[in-house]
Amino acid sequence: MDLDIQDIIIAIDGYSSTGKSSFAKRIAHSLGFVYLDSGALYRGVTLLVLENGWHEGERIDTEKLEPALHDLDLHFEDHGKGTRTYMGERCIERQIRSMKVSALVSPVAALACVRAYVDARLRDLARNRRVVMDGRDIGTTVFPDAELKIFMVADQKVRAQRRMDELVAKGEDVSFDEILANLQRRDYIDSHRAASPLRQAPDAIVLDNTNMTFEQQMAWLETILRERFAR
Ligand code: C5P
Repeated sequence: MDLDIQDIIIAIDGYSSTGKSSFAKRIAHSLGFVYLDSGALYRGVTLLVLENGWHEGERIDTEKLEPALHDLDLHFEDHGKGTRTYMGERCIERQIRSMKVSALVSPVAALACVRAYVDARLRDLARNRRVVMDGRDIGTTVFPDAELKIFMVADQKVRAQRRMDELVAKGEDVSFDEILANLQRRDYIDSHRAASPLRQAPDAIVLDNTNMTFEQQMAWLETILRERFAR
């Protein structure tokens, strides 16, 4: 994108598998912005819970988890192959994308102590304003003053198919029904939890990409950036 943009925060929220992270990554790359994946941080906390056995079904042992959050070092590194999530020195990018993590992440992300941890990490990582972030509550809670807010939606079956293609490409053995059920469950928990539920911010612009190609979405964004934020 041949465009000189002001120093802004771009907040991209929406349902699971609407393509938020691919869109956010491409925007960051095109504009020279930093990309922050808030979902990856929730997934990192979930991996910690799973590896320590701090849960019984969807019930999380917060007495064990909460103190562990004080020393939990989740961050991003980019060694030329795109942004990867790290827990201390360990790259956890592959593990956090597994179905096991996806199955537990929404109950973990519903906990107030976990949301406080992730919000603090995001605000710390976004001190410089040239960032694009994706998540569920970036425009409503983490950065209510973000200059540009986009709310992404797409048909649920189309989203499940996209997720399935992604996981199959990585060699995971999953069924369409399992993925659809996981999406429905996450949509429900994410939009009904007490702590900052998934909601469209009043000043967010809706992007329904059910029938849009990636390039069409980028063109849509470029028009907005040119009109509102070019310098
Ligand atoms: O975006 P991704 O699918 O990786 O997010 C995983 C989960 O993390 C979501 O289903 C949601 O439960 C949680 N999440 C959240 N708030 C955010 C980002 C993700 O609750 N800002």
